[in-house]
Amino acid sequence: MKLFDNNTTVCMCCDARLSNSLMHVKIDGIGICKRCFSKFHPNTPNMPFEGTESINYILSSFRYNDTIKKTIHRYKFYGNRKISELFFNLMKDYISKAPILKSFDIITAMPLHKKRLFNRGYNQAELIAINLSEFLDIPFSSCVYRSKNTLVQSTLKASERHKNTKNVFVADKEKVSGKRIILFDDVCTTRSTLDSCAKELKHRGAKEVIALTLANVYNL
Ligand SMILES: [Zn+2]
Repeated sequence: MKLFDNNTTVCMCCDARLSNSLMHVKIDGIGICKRCFSKFHPNTPNMPFEGTESINYILSSFRYNDTIKKTIHRYKFYGNRKISELFFNLMKDYISKAPILKSFDIITAMPLHKKRLFNRGYNQAELIAINLSEFLDIPFSSCVYRSKNTLVQSTLKASERHKNTKNVFVADKEKVSGKRIILFDDVCTTRSTLDSCAKELKHRGAKEVIALTLANVYNL
């Protein structure tokens, strides 16, 4: 006897087991159902978010809310790297409306410290960025890493966040010099981590850095 029939998928957001026709995206029995997806608020790529000192502008597919927060959190700790493809599929529509992304030289992902990478087994942002690189037809480059294991930004007061992200990134000059770079992360929450990473990329000679994220806490 089969425990579940192949025509159903579990929604990673609301845990419901539903027929495949009720899923917005799915892969290997896991998906995001249409009802949960209706709570995601897509942004429009022709209105980028304001950048920072080192980032020209920020592109983010969705507005950050409780539903997307829960879904991303589950992805990080689900232990299934294939879920990155679900998130890539969620972003596809937005990405295809932003042809400017194809003009960049490389895409990289916000690095995890090796200790955190070891515990989690994968860098969730990197897996999505690799999917994006194939779609955009630009190379993915592991050109920046974390030299310090920082505290989780959301646990800190605003005044402590800048200090927490200072001098934590080291970029490879040979890989970034003269390059126009897309820096990918799953969520843009405070901008300070993205800015700090972009600053290091620029310091090593990057010509331009923009950020691309799945979700953004700021409203347009
Ligand atoms: Zn659902």
